[in-house]
Amino acid sequence: MPVKNRLAEMHDQITEWRHHLHAHPELSYDVHETAAFVVERLKDFGVDDITPGIGKTGVVAVIKGRMDTKDRVIGLRADMDALPIEEATGLDYASTVPGKMHACGHDGHTSMLLGAAQYLAETRNFDGTVVLIFQPAEEGGAGGLAMCKDGLMDRWGIQEVYGMHNAPGVPVGEFAIRPGALMASSDEFDITVTGKGGHAAAPHEAIDTTLVASHIVVALQSVVSRTVDPIKRVVLTVGTFETDSVASNIIAHSVRLQGTVRTLDHEYRAIAKERVFRIAEDTASAFGAAAKVTWTPGYPVTVNSEAETTYAAEAAMAVAGKVNDNAEPIMPSEDFAYMLEERPGAYIFIGNGDTAMCHHPKYNFDDGAIPAGCSWFAELVERRMPVV
Ligand SMILES: [Zn+2]
Ligand SMILES: [Zn+2]
Repeated sequence: MPVKNRLAEMHDQITEWRHHLHAHPELSYDVHETAAFVVERLKDFGVDDITPGIGKTGVVAVIKGRMDTKDRVIGLRADMDALPIEEATGLDYASTVPGKMHACGHDGHTSMLLGAAQYLAETRNFDGTVVLIFQPAEEGGAGGLAMCKDGLMDRWGIQEVYGMHNAPGVPVGEFAIRPGALMASSDEFDITVTGKGGHAAAPHEAIDTTLVASHIVVALQSVVSRTVDPIKRVVLTVGTFETDSVASNIIAHSVRLQGTVRTLDHEYRAIAKERVFRIAEDTASAFGAAAKVTWTPGYPVTVNSEAETTYAAEAAMAVAGKVNDNAEPIMPSEDFAYMLEERPGAYIFIGNGDTAMCHHPKYNFDDGAIPAGCSWFAELVERRMPVV
């Protein structure tokens, strides 16, 4: 594998960082020790500038190339947070914190970006500026959005941005990517149906919210099957159905439904939202009941821009010699999507081999992927901002 020789030499060191981070997982925005570890390493490398506290606990650092003739600036992003999972790997460097675990490989992502940073700070073989982005709270906390709101893109003049996530099931060190939608948006809805409770033997004097809510659940299934172009991908699931009746002879006064909508398409994200409101409110109204809908937007669709996907795939090809550049989109969501809403860029998967899935208590990042992952970041920088 033509990974960069210097990065292959650094493999043991980067693996040590990874194991240290793995043993000391932190959640969401509470990544103070992880961010401090990142800052210490970056100082050792002699990067040009380090700014902690962006997006609460994110770290932004700058490495200037040996030349700067074209005002080029590229952002490289890694996530730092772990998950509230009790680790079951039995590793000798397993989590030392009960109930917390690096079960999504963000320890690997952070270590690989640190490795690339050390290489880039040593070699500076590029014409422009690299901005390193270490973000908190990827797992549901929208840390990427928090960093963007703190002015990440404008303040550092980032022109294009790239990120990477490990992928169980893809061979170690190989890459997979696609242009366009790669990962889904994820929104949640909460519907409270209110009618009129009563005696089970006197339904004519009540408004039976169990029946009304059942019609709403059935009608919501038409959003995907009858509203969405069959070629497009949208998922709507009603996850909970909770009545306030506790006995077989009581007609419920209210019912609460909670569900999620995931889509790979901005347009259908908006359409699905509108349909959920219409169906819930109008169905309830038809029965003389009322429905109150609360919509909580989650992460947007992760959309890779065309040109940057090609650059990312070419760099991966140079490193690994093999790239799946037409990877299937997947329905989990990813908050790098916020950065891709602000700048062109691409998100790539790096193989993690035959491991447990992400978020499983036996998952582990595969250290064998480190040289390829670091080399991809570095190769991308040297290709996009070549010294000529
Ligand atoms: Zn995750
Ligand atoms: Zn993750």
